[in-house]
Amino acid sequence: MLAKIDTQTHHDRHGLYPQANSVEDFRRNLATVRKRIDAACRRANRDSAAVRLLPVSKTKPEASLRMAYAAGCRILGENKVQEAHRKWEAMQDLDDLHWSVIGHLQTNKAKLVARFAGEFQALDSLRLAEALDRRLQIEGRALDVFVQVNTSGEPSKYGLNPEDVAPFVQALPAFSALRVRGLMTLALFSSEAARVRQCFVLLRRLRDQLRQSAPASIGLDELSMGMSGDFEIAIEEGATVVRVGQAIFGARPLPDSHYWPGESSTEALPR
Ligand SMILES: *Cc1c(COP(=O)(O)O)cnc(C)c1O
Repeated sequence: MLAKIDTQTHHDRHGLYPQANSVEDFRRNLATVRKRIDAACRRANRDSAAVRLLPVSKTKPEASLRMAYAAGCRILGENKVQEAHRKWEAMQDLDDLHWSVIGHLQTNKAKLVARFAGEFQALDSLRLAEALDRRLQIEGRALDVFVQVNTSGEPSKYGLNPEDVAPFVQALPAFSALRVRGLMTLALFSSEAARVRQCFVLLRRLRDQLRQSAPASIGLDELSMGMSGDFEIAIEEGATVVRVGQAIFGARPLPDSHYWPGESSTEALPR
């Protein structure tokens, strides 16, 4: 249905976004991103209220996060749990600021996530589900979670293989502190829009299939997909959460290989 839309990726801008250095910069960047979200929703005949913008603050200093807060952000995404936990501790005075952990988590760090995160988007093993649930029960907390799916087939990307997701979600009702909201993915990091789009289509179709068989307590309304370089395509394919870092905060000092081992952004980017 949407195949005729030829929205391009913005992966060629990767690493080139200007730094946001003031609350005004953040307001402007947020408004620009929201405008792009609205335009993508219009193209896809979707209500823009159905798409949540998750600003991603990884690598950025506390001062930047505070400016983002002043510009209206009330939830921030972080890829690494220790960095997220450190920032949470430093910003306890902002008691309506919530944290979403969006990166791979080792089982032995489940305790940290259970302590402070409001949302975890990278659930990809039963061992981790069990560890999170155990720690959450101790803390007397519940956690919104997304099951991460590897839709690009790249061995460097985390997440379950698509065919393993149905049996995986069957087992999740055993973990009562985990509120499953939906699926999350990182698309192929490519300037070829059609191949990026395929990843998003795969996630949506998988979600639609899962709806036939998933236990009633498993929520499948959410599709977290799309980042600075490709969120418009993700929205055209049904994203309900877009995770946007650079287009709001500015380019990051560290290469993305630091976050996604095996990823080489320069090689992936014919310009
Ligand atoms: C960093 C990150 C993003 C945001 O990427 P940008 O290019 O900064 O928009 C999205 N999702 C995950 C899992 C990330 O680690």
